[in-house]
Amino acid sequence: MGNYLSESYLSPENIQNVKNAILYKLVFALGVEPREASNRNWLNAALRVVRDLSTESWLQSRRGQAANMSRRVYYLSMEFLMGRTFSNAMISEGVYEVIRAALDELGHKLEDIIDEEGDPGLGNGGLGRLAACYLDSLATMKIPAIGYGIQYEYGMFRQEIRNGEQVEYPDYWMDKEFAWPYIRSSKRFPIRFGGRTWQEGKKTHWQAEEEIIAQAHDQLIPGFGTSSTNSLRLWSAHAGDKVFGLADFNRGDYFSAMVQQNSSENVSRVLYPDDSTYNGRELRLRQEYFLCSASVQDIIRRHELESGSCLNLAEKVAIHLNDTHPTLAIPELMRILIDEKGYSWEQSWNITRKTFFYTNHTLMAEALETWPVEMVARILPRHLQIIFEINEWFLKKVSEKFPEDNDLIRRVSIIDENGDRRIRMAWLAVIASGKVNGVAKIHSDLMVESIFADFAKIFPDRFTNVTNGVTPRRWIQIANPGLASILDKYVGKDWRTDLSQLDKLNQFVDDEDLQEQISAVKIENKRKLARYIESTQGIKLNPEAIFDVQIKRIHQYKRQQLNVLHIVALYNRILKNPSANWQPRVFIFAGKAASAYYAAKKVIRLINDVAAVINNDSRINDLIKVVFIPNYSVTLAQMIIPAADISEQISLAGTEASGTSNMKFALNGALTIGTLDGANVEILDCVGQENIFIFGNTVEQVEELRKNGYSPYTFYETDTELNEAILQILNGKFSPEEPYRYQDIILDSGDYYQACADFRSYIDTQDKVAQYFGDKTAWTRSAIINIANMGYFSSDRSVLDYAKNIWNIEPTSDKQLSEQPKILDIIKDSNKVINLK
Ligand SMILES: *Cc1c(COP(=O)(O)O)cnc(C)c1O
Repeated sequence: MGNYLSESYLSPENIQNVKNAILYKLVFALGVEPREASNRNWLNAALRVVRDLSTESWLQSRRGQAANMSRRVYYLSMEFLMGRTFSNAMISEGVYEVIRAALDELGHKLEDIIDEEGDPGLGNGGLGRLAACYLDSLATMKIPAIGYGIQYEYGMFRQEIRNGEQVEYPDYWMDKEFAWPYIRSSKRFPIRFGGRTWQEGKKTHWQAEEEIIAQAHDQLIPGFGTSSTNSLRLWSAHAGDKVFGLADFNRGDYFSAMVQQNSSENVSRVLYPDDSTYNGRELRLRQEYFLCSASVQDIIRRHELESGSCLNLAEKVAIHLNDTHPTLAIPELMRILIDEKGYSWEQSWNITRKTFFYTNHTLMAEALETWPVEMVARILPRHLQIIFEINEWFLKKVSEKFPEDNDLIRRVSIIDENGDRRIRMAWLAVIASGKVNGVAKIHSDLMVESIFADFAKIFPDRFTNVTNGVTPRRWIQIANPGLASILDKYVGKDWRTDLSQLDKLNQFVDDEDLQEQISAVKIENKRKLARYIESTQGIKLNPEAIFDVQIKRIHQYKRQQLNVLHIVALYNRILKNPSANWQPRVFIFAGKAASAYYAAKKVIRLINDVAAVINNDSRINDLIKVVFIPNYSVTLAQMIIPAADISEQISLAGTEASGTSNMKFALNGALTIGTLDGANVEILDCVGQENIFIFGNTVEQVEELRKNGYSPYTFYETDTELNEAILQILNGKFSPEEPYRYQDIILDSGDYYQACADFRSYIDTQDKVAQYFGDKTAWTRSAIINIANMGYFSSDRSVLDYAKNIWNIEPTSDKQLSEQPKILDIIKDSNKVINLK
């Protein structure tokens, strides 16, 4: 292969070399004869070529990071929703066009090859996608980082819609060969469960009952336009010597059906299909411990290799907990330091407290994780002891600082003594972490006013905010190449790694050429989505209509139901006055409901029932179309978001911690209709109130209503349109074959998420949307102002905030990276190879 991987070998002028490299991989890495190769074979061959480039950079970065002697962050998350790898890797390595040209000369269209790649659903929604955006940004911002997660054999289920209802199918994503990861067969750690502990002098022993093996699978995470490259390590579970049966499962849903008993490999079998409600299942606890134990063992192994001992662990290691799911890493680190490394309890605690950091993702009580003491005692007896010891240490401190406040002690105790005793994981995470952050300003403020109010008093400096962000590489450059090239022309190319450059667009908001180009790209994206929907569902859409989009997990707090109420009200209005000057609308939904979440699944059915009636009612002359796109994924989001005119961010104020799709939409020139919730509040600050549609009650008003005994009926009785829409749904207008189908979900639990209270404000605001859309120039101008002022919402800014204010990590410099010898130069000289450290 000659000087393969040298600077110029795969450069844009060297299409022939790139062709050779792809063919070489096809034949010698995959063992496939070119004339018999499938598109998937070509994908994997090309992936291998790009991976070589990333591997070179990765090895170089590791040496650069070591030279920097900096701290590294370990990002622990039960979910990573990575999306496809190929396009991202090509743009990061700067070989997108040359690979396109090479494949072209080999007789293949790059788009077809890209479409061969699956989209591993190893996450539920926002939390997992955030982890993926952060990995991309950490590498691009040159922050030394390793992600740790679980390689679920079955990720998120595949969703189909049958007769309007969600049906779940297992998504065995690993059956498709995927040439990107490195399987590290030798990186294996034992994970132990159960058994008993006993004391021998000062030393505690833990005799476990069961042992399984965690094995590593690595994916390289290339930074964009830099040799800085990090990695994501996912663990899979394998049978060890000791295997015994898992507990019984008795819930008749997808999840239970997926779990076959009596196999230790169950631990990495399947992702829990819900990220916002606590699910008190033993397997989930095992999964969490599995991730934590494997990762902490690996972190310590690597640290000892680099530093010799664990004494300076906290100087070199920051462990970040993406929500409380990986909180068991805290007692696991304590256990290893005390029981295996022989440090004292105080020494170990001092190291641990400086090592951990925690991001809170929800304030909703039902989503706060707690585990029964009894269950932890059975599965992790040694960890339970350590948790009790931490609690004892902490409560002693609190009673010194706030003597005789027994109520406070009761409230902040890690152990909830009400009813069956439970461990409050968020409390443990707060007590052991150097910093705790929320994910948007309003969320971080509410966090210290509500759930963590007591802790904010005890640890006044511990709480902070880092507003979420999204990566502009995936969410603009890859998802919306048309917009990317407009930006290149108007603000230069640096927006990819410095999104604040978008600000320059503000001077062109009235530039007619720009306006024309922006609306041309939007309409092209809408046409492309319309073609997809027509070819997959046979529904024909008018690309001139308002594309009004709500895509996200189906959840009551996100209020897809409110959106439906507007659709029904609009339908009624059009029927009453069909010849008025209506603005045509396409309502687009996508999203999965947790398989055991009855009300959410019924909302999907309602959307599809309403769609079936309205789409086929010739009286409304195609003025409304309603589409539910099945099987929402990162890849679908990349196609849908650039085609949106309106972004629906309509959660009840105080319930959505941040949201990130709100950011992706606004960056792609959609205008938001939203409540003052999560990051919507900051988007409003950035784009200005003339360029966003804010409606509904504020957090304070929501609380006030709740305090005074909220009743939907006061709204429902006085608002005739609301009344009509609700009665139609309740009485089966959209489900004539089963008239009472929706009786149990409309206004259920006394309309807990207050859709009725926000209805009037919502549909009046939707009227303004329609009117404004009629003024093409004003609309496009607002879209440009949105794009121009969304620079703050880059995940690059978020991770730099984390590095500076939370982890105390200096990015690696270009110099430190470029000073490192290239691996190819090293291996060309066999003497160097032998001396390589
Ligand atoms: C961005 C994203 C989310 C998060 O959406 P929200 O509307 O912020 O909840 C969920 N799923 C996918 C696939 C995404 O890309």
